[in-house]
Amino acid sequence: MKEHAHAHDADRVLLDVEEVRGRILSAVGPGAPVDLPLEEAAGCVLASEARAGLDLPPFASSAMDGFAVRAADVGGANRERPVGLRRAGEVRMGRPPEAALGEGEAIAIPTGGTVPRGADAVVPIELCSTDGERVWVLAPVAEGEHVRPAGEDASAGDLLVPVGRRLLAPDLGLLASAGLASVPVRPRVRVGVVSTGDELVPPGDPLGEGRIHDANAFTLLAAVEEAGGVPVAAPIVPDDPARLVEALDDLGDAVDAFVSSGGVAMGEDDPVKRAFAGGGEVELYEVAMQPGKPQAFGSWRGRPFFGLPGNPVSVFVSFEVFVRPALLRMMGRPPLRPEISATLAEDVEGLPRKTRFARVRLRRDGDRLIAAATGSHRSSLLSPLAGAHGLAVIPAGVEVLRAGQACRVMVFRDPEEP
Ligand code: AMP
Ligand code: MG
Repeated sequence: MKEHAHAHDADRVLLDVEEVRGRILSAVGPGAPVDLPLEEAAGCVLASEARAGLDLPPFASSAMDGFAVRAADVGGANRERPVGLRRAGEVRMGRPPEAALGEGEAIAIPTGGTVPRGADAVVPIELCSTDGERVWVLAPVAEGEHVRPAGEDASAGDLLVPVGRRLLAPDLGLLASAGLASVPVRPRVRVGVVSTGDELVPPGDPLGEGRIHDANAFTLLAAVEEAGGVPVAAPIVPDDPARLVEALDDLGDAVDAFVSSGGVAMGEDDPVKRAFAGGGEVELYEVAMQPGKPQAFGSWRGRPFFGLPGNPVSVFVSFEVFVRPALLRMMGRPPLRPEISATLAEDVEGLPRKTRFARVRLRRDGDRLIAAATGSHRSSLLSPLAGAHGLAVIPAGVEVLRAGQACRVMVFRDPEEP
């Protein structure tokens, strides 16, 4: 019996992880650009290049609090023989200078003040002493010293931010300084999250006999948020394919993609399987991975649909391996997390036909990262997952990766965190 089951499993078509991800990634693409005000654009990918419409800074300004002067007037100044200049007014912030600077004159200027016509340098306040209408300059300055020329940061027409860059704090500051109030970006993907299962009860509600709390919805809502998407929660769906379809239709136009958990396996009642079996736009298949073997992917009402298995660890691993990359692509971002290499603290067994995603804790040891498995490989156990920093990838067919050997890790938590 056991042998028979084994032979049966070996006969099954298991699709390669990378191949499935490749198919998914080629089925999704970035959404049409939308104009967002700068304050909403942080974290979104710029959809067309942003260029400076004016010189930055727009006018020559002082880099110091001090006096605007002509460098030629103060060439010989030193502490023993200061050069005396006539104080000819002051520049006020945010206003044009009242007058041009003449020979032998100094005009007081604050940092950021407009350098008056006729001046070509600024002497910092600490290198001057004042005495009524006289300004004594105690050191020479070179032409252009302590002056920020117009266009020093960028000239009108220069590229400020290229297409495809995700807008982070420095980019937003730069765009704002160029006077742009809104920018065309790829919109955040709104993702509807549906849990399926007759046994599920929302956290906070009492558990009846045989019931468990819906964990997956919260895993997925948080994972969507972390990926930069907008999570949209749907009520729990019982094991009834008609109710699943209803739930997806209720989400309707409010979302750009759907993610469900549970109900893709071979069981009698599995609602995703029953809703989409027999063809259509959603395909059910098995992937050569552990956890996360049964999967569904396709489109529902023209939007990507991801049917993930129900086991809580399978849900998170499937999200990391398939859904997150797809969502990132839909938002115009590079789909994969940067991978790191870590040294195994202990032996980790692989599987003959499946890639294993093992939950590992990471710790730093000099410039190496050491990975230690957090416990059982069982896909129902959330504690070892929550205690992990990443997923170590043990390729299919590798019998065992030995302590001291290197392995790839998909890191989802900073190794400095507990
Ligand atoms: P299924 O894929 O629907 O056969 O579910 C596999 C296992 O995952 C079962 O033990 C389910 O009770 C459990 N499960 C399914 N959905 C959830 C959920 N939303 N939260 C926690 N456990 C779940
Ligand atoms: Mg179920």
